Amino acid sequence: MPELPEVETTLRGIEPHILNKKISSFLVRQDSLRWVVPTKLIQNKLINKTFSKITRRGKYLLLESSNESLIVHLGMSGSLRISSKDNLKKHDHIDICFADGTILRYCDPRRFGCFLWTNDPETHFLLKDLGPEPLGNHFNGDHLFDLSRKRKTPIKNFIMNSKIVVGVGNIYASEALFASKIRPSSKAGRVPRKKYDLLAQEIVKLLRESIKQGGTTLRDFVGGNNQPGYFKQSLKVYGREGENCYDCSFPIKGQRIGQRASAYCPNCQSNF
Ligand SMILES: [Zn+2]
Repeated sequence: MPELPEVETTLRGIEPHILNKKISSFLVRQDSLRWVVPTKLIQNKLINKTFSKITRRGKYLLLESSNESLIVHLGMSGSLRISSKDNLKKHDHIDICFADGTILRYCDPRRFGCFLWTNDPETHFLLKDLGPEPLGNHFNGDHLFDLSRKRKTPIKNFIMNSKIVVGVGNIYASEALFASKIRPSSKAGRVPRKKYDLLAQEIVKLLRESIKQGGTTLRDFVGGNNQPGYFKQSLKVYGREGENCYDCSFPIKGQRIGQRASAYCPNCQSNF
């Protein structure tokens, strides 16, 4: 699943190719994504216009045009790439074509992504309740600590809740909890402030590092198993159940928390 760093890398990758270029067509081959693509509406809004700005909110890309925005989410398996007409692949559902011949192409085998239009991202139902950006100024240990009081929910679910902070997926939650030595099943409300300071720092560090590693080419987005290939090398617990902890040699344990596979080192990570 594309995580925040892949979305940020996508933004940085496509931006220089499409910004301020005249849009000539919006072509939809398959409109049945997570929500039906409002093709006619988007065509009316975009054709002969330009994208003046591209931003990211959580894992949503906002492509701004005439003070309104195209909202794009990559879902479970979506990707955007800069392409040319002759290399159409299976699952290439949407093209945004530009007058100079550039094509921004959307591919999504599982079709959980979205292409929607909004005249006000702040109030859009997908965006209005989102918590702060982990790489923004409003995210830190105090923020997590304050919102966590009296919560019995496992800390892993707590930091993966987009109302608390956006864009912390399973990989980053697992790895940040390992780095800050907190067991993923710990009750959020019992984890002390100092640990939240550390956890927030580790989340930021992991995301920054991953963006840095992924920021080279568009080809790097998806490896063979839909994991970002560039990040796999440095995983310490995610996907390592049964293997030995790099720090202490104990076997990494697996556990299901809130329907999701979790992994942790029972020796390095304390329960709260
Ligand atoms: Zn360990």
